[in-house]
Amino acid sequence: MITEKKKYVTLSFDDGTVQDVRFIGLLNKYGVKSTFNLNSGLFGTKHRIIHDGINCDHTEITADMVRELYAGHEVAVHTVSHPNLAKLDSDGVFREVEGDRLALEALCGYPIIGMAYPGGPFYTEETISTILTRTPIRYARNVRSSYTFAPSARYMEWSPTCKLEDEALFDLCKRFKAAEADEAVLLFYVWGHSFELDKYKSWDRFERFLDTIAGLEDTAYVTNGEFYASHPLPAV
Ligand SMILES: [Zn+2]
Repeated sequence: MITEKKKYVTLSFDDGTVQDVRFIGLLNKYGVKSTFNLNSGLFGTKHRIIHDGINCDHTEITADMVRELYAGHEVAVHTVSHPNLAKLDSDGVFREVEGDRLALEALCGYPIIGMAYPGGPFYTEETISTILTRTPIRYARNVRSSYTFAPSARYMEWSPTCKLEDEALFDLCKRFKAAEADEAVLLFYVWGHSFELDKYKSWDRFERFLDTIAGLEDTAYVTNGEFYASHPLPAV
């Protein structure tokens, strides 16, 4: 629930891999909310990522897990198949975004109007205009860290504060906790991938982050969609 509070924390995590199960267990323990950006065309696909000698599971959750697993959080679009949207024409963008949106909406049973761009920086003004004119999507996250708590001026290019793995994370926690939300709304927005907690063996660090940022009296813990709904801006 959005309150009159002016300080907000929101998370946004991509790809819907099996590590979301453990990740959401921790979010629920600490009362922190996230938006999860899912690829409906990749449900159940098994991949492994080799990184620094670590063989990391990148298996995506199955469609029948979606409704229950993400209950209390938000499901949003990450396109059907995770392509580079900047390389697709308007019909291609429409198929990838709206196809995913409809599939996820059918699984979740609520309207979906948010997304995260697959691959982060791969979109253009034309991509945004296609999405706004041909789909109900009204907010879309990129991967450009703002290192501020100022909410985005443009929801179709919603920049997070930082990535979970950013070395500035705990310094930003300190700054956020010390900041006074006088007139301005402050939003601490962290994004990432739960499979990277396996990749970097950073589950303890993640829990330390939750322990640091959760349960603050003056702060509301919301999904991206809840923040959007209570802080409307013109859709541009
Ligand atoms: Zn992704």
